[in-house]
Amino acid sequence: MENIIEVEKLNFSYEPGNPALEKVSFTVPRGASGCIVGPNGGGKSTLLKLLLGLLTPDSGEIRVFGLSPVAARSRVGYMPQYHKLDPAFPVSVFEVAVMGRMRRNFWGRYSHEDRIAALAALDEMGIADLADRSFAALSGGQRQRVLIARALAGDPELLLLDEPTANIDPGAEEQFHGALECLRKRMTVLTVSHDLGFVSRGSDMVICVNRRVTLHTAEAFNAADADEIYHHQVDMIKHTHHCFCNCPGGHHHD
Ligand code: ADP
Ligand code: MG
Repeated sequence: MENIIEVEKLNFSYEPGNPALEKVSFTVPRGASGCIVGPNGGGKSTLLKLLLGLLTPDSGEIRVFGLSPVAARSRVGYMPQYHKLDPAFPVSVFEVAVMGRMRRNFWGRYSHEDRIAALAALDEMGIADLADRSFAALSGGQRQRVLIARALAGDPELLLLDEPTANIDPGAEEQFHGALECLRKRMTVLTVSHDLGFVSRGSDMVICVNRRVTLHTAEAFNAADADEIYHHQVDMIKHTHHCFCNCPGGHHHD
């Protein structure tokens, strides 16, 4: 099967001598539904930014669709963990979604085709009726869905979602899982989550990130694996550790 992500001996640090990711090698086949798990500060968001070419490795190689991450970016949809939209900024839901089409000129003009694609993405997330509403006036769960719609509007082959269910209520989370199931049928999706519940929700691979990266198949991923990665840096993760070991169905939010 074609690997759409290939990472080989990747090293990356924000500060010299303090690697955020070390000796990372893995591949992701086309069509995979992967869950990226690991403790706070383990490097999950950093890994996504490297896959997007927003950060550059110190050494090693990353190929996305056989290309450099920057060259591949127009084929990748991304929902960042923390979005930079100022809540006071007067922007409509539609305008946020159509940004997903404006890869080169962020505030540029959009075509009829862009408009259709943005509306279709909002519709897919069940929020087409909110298109003219102010983004700032939405609930956390609604905003989250707008941001996923923005990631979908560019018609990506690979979708990267960084903690998409953080800060949303359980009802919205159920809806989100339903939407995710549909998306997984037509594109490769990697979802960062603190929540091991994600792993049993139709993921077929688990990417554990704690400075090092280990891959597991979803069936083989078990409490011992979780224990191993979450025990390595217990001081750093003590508040999340408890959740993973003692209440597997539990939820953790930052
Ligand atoms: P995760 O998403 O798994 O919580 P991150 O990828 O955000 O982890 O962070 C990995 C490590 O890199 C952490 O130690 C974090 O403090 C550090 N880090 C993240 N972003 C920056 C940055 N912009 N500058 C310096 N250090 C950073
Ligand atoms: Mg993160």
